[in-house]
Amino acid sequence: KNLVIAIDGYSSCGKSTLAKALAKKLGFIYIDSGSMYRAVTLFFIRNKVDISDPEAVKDALQHIELNFHSRDYESHITLNGEEVSEEIRQMPVSENVSEVSANKIVRKEMVKQQQRMGKSKNIVMDGRDIGTTVFADAQVKFFMTADPKIRAERRFKELQSKGDTITSLEDVFENLAHRDYADTTRAESPLTRAEDAIILDNTELTQEEQLDFALEQVHQ
Ligand code: C5P
Repeated sequence: KNLVIAIDGYSSCGKSTLAKALAKKLGFIYIDSGSMYRAVTLFFIRNKVDISDPEAVKDALQHIELNFHSRDYESHITLNGEEVSEEIRQMPVSENVSEVSANKIVRKEMVKQQQRMGKSKNIVMDGRDIGTTVFADAQVKFFMTADPKIRAERRFKELQSKGDTITSLEDVFENLAHRDYADTTRAESPLTRAEDAIILDNTELTQEEQLDFALEQVHQ
């Protein structure tokens, strides 16, 4: 049977960095489930989809096609054929994604697509509900945490390196706090640690140390 590694945790904890490194080392496919919610959010913003209208949400989802293109284990996503990997990381999407991803209809569709991707292939998928909902039977599960200040600093530097000169460190900190709150308190599969998930606090760990730790767990 194919292997699934699930990585969940709070926003900007280094989940995708670890997931990519694991996928590369093990030759697995890396899937960033958050980018799917982000791409849906981008579509909703652009098309002014009313999230409180179930019919509008259903209709919008029928007009969304998401595809992954993996280059050097960097995850690239297209929305109806358009490369949106950069745009979905910007603040307008970050500010709306937790509301969109709390929607039941949206989640149902995303979970269905994610489960299909991990049906027959070895994958590493990161997100919020991978070990609890999408792949509750994943062979290896991690739950990542890190100090909120350090998380905000990392994400802030990332935005700056992409040329964002408007967003302040405080904006980033608030956005992370807001998303963590929304993600852990929503009704539909809230962010929570699966009982069998291994906790990985990376506040003090280098990327190499995290990878070594994770590989040890995978090989057990
Ligand atoms: O992983 P990332 O921070 O890019 O995810 C963006 C947002 O998408 C999260 O804050 C959360 O609201 C939502 N998400 C989710 N379930 C997932 C992955 C992401 O609800 N499996």
